[in-house]
Amino acid sequence: MSFSHLGLSDKVIAAVDSAGYKTPTPVQDQAIPHVLARRDVLGIAQTGTGKTAAFVLPMLTMLEKGRARARMPRTLILEPTRELAAQVVEQFEKYGKNHKLSVALIIGGVSFGDQDAKLVRGVDVLIATPGRLLDHSERGRLLLSGVELLVIDEADRMLDMGFIPDIERIGKLVPFTRQTLFFTATMPPEIQRIADNFLHNPVRVEVSKPATAATTITQLQVATGRDPADKRETLRNLIRSADDFKNAIVFCNRKREVALLHRSLQRHKFNAVALHGDLDQSARTAALDAFRTGEAKLLIASDVAARGLDIPAVSHIFNFDVPHHPDDYIHRIGRTGRAGLTGIAITIVTPADGKSVAAIERLTGQPIPWMGEPAASEPRESRPPQGERSHGGRGRGGRGRGERSHGERNHGERPAHAEAQPHRRQPQPHQDKEPARAAKPRSEQPRLQQPRPRREHAEESDGSHLPAFLLRPVTLKA
Ligand code: AMP
Repeated sequence: MSFSHLGLSDKVIAAVDSAGYKTPTPVQDQAIPHVLARRDVLGIAQTGTGKTAAFVLPMLTMLEKGRARARMPRTLILEPTRELAAQVVEQFEKYGKNHKLSVALIIGGVSFGDQDAKLVRGVDVLIATPGRLLDHSERGRLLLSGVELLVIDEADRMLDMGFIPDIERIGKLVPFTRQTLFFTATMPPEIQRIADNFLHNPVRVEVSKPATAATTITQLQVATGRDPADKRETLRNLIRSADDFKNAIVFCNRKREVALLHRSLQRHKFNAVALHGDLDQSARTAALDAFRTGEAKLLIASDVAARGLDIPAVSHIFNFDVPHHPDDYIHRIGRTGRAGLTGIAITIVTPADGKSVAAIERLTGQPIPWMGEPAASEPRESRPPQGERSHGGRGRGGRGRGERSHGERNHGERPAHAEAQPHRRQPQPHQDKEPARAAKPRSEQPRLQQPRPRREHAEESDGSHLPAFLLRPVTLKA
């Protein structure tokens, strides 16, 4: 089956052809004819399925008729992160090279002035993150009443990042009669509710079960000690000894860890760049470009920063930290093994990570084989890692590891008014975030701070305490 039966314009088909794509992916095949027929679409599809082209291609076809007016975009695409928004712009450039459409990007971290100048000239396609879009709208610089088509992409990610109230507000600013395309990788009840609100009699397109890993990915886990220095050494050894290594993304759970690991790898002469929410836009773009062009071989990233990034042909994924949420594992390893290529995903596992690995294995339905010796599992009441003990229970740098700086959750893109809204849904603990327990100051963490209870079970030993028989009460005879 080729692209020609979908109803796309000749210009679009020519651009797809020169991009080298011969066959539509399932989501494109199923969604494009409905989009062109002006139906609302509910697309349940992950990144990597070709879902972006599933809306970009028909939008280009539809936008061939009509013209943009000043400050009144004709179509609006909402993305949860700046990088995803920038990627959609790239797709418009790729497939829209035979068109003369005006595409504008409205994201946080870049100057208002340039964005405003573009809006004044009139845009056919406005691609935006919700916070910055609302800022423009509230300043009266942008009118959404001319939007004919609205795309809400990565809706479940928007939910995780606390953007749903913003999305709902934007929904009130666009015309009731617009067409809506709504994409999500998963369908939790909250997303179903939003979809019901936004979509009118939608066509449902579901392309693959969420939480399935590509079969072209070899997954492995490797045991290491709890000390971050041990983990870093294990990672260096893995990189040095990796088969067919071309490049790798190394995932950490926290952006602070991203920065630390990045510096450490650079000290060890690895060609690495970092991507996390604290970097400004130009640093993030520079890091991504260096990785994409092959100038840098390692990209150290947090989940949020790397979400949905389309970086073709990554040979390896290393999970420096086991993700707290099994879904994140699927997303992380999905950065390799794309489009039929093979990939290797290796997770570095400490004795404390047993539960998280078990949750991943339950989700994927398959055990992750060990590379070398399995990690000895550690009881819950175990001792904290070396660094924490020697620093009186607090991480280095004064701030406990569990405490996050403001803006960590979503690259600081939520508008200032966000906190003022009582109905605002709190972001769920997810990417780049500490689990609820760890978000407390260290002093409130029973696991690390409370005095160790006397052991009652011999099997609780972690090898650093007295043998059980020495703890038995001894009666001395007179
Ligand atoms: P997405 O799911 O939109 O992130 O797309 C993932 C990757 O698939 C991108 O690199 C696209 O360029 C690529 N892609 C999109 N459509 C096709 C197609 N029909 N055939 C092969 N690759 C495609």
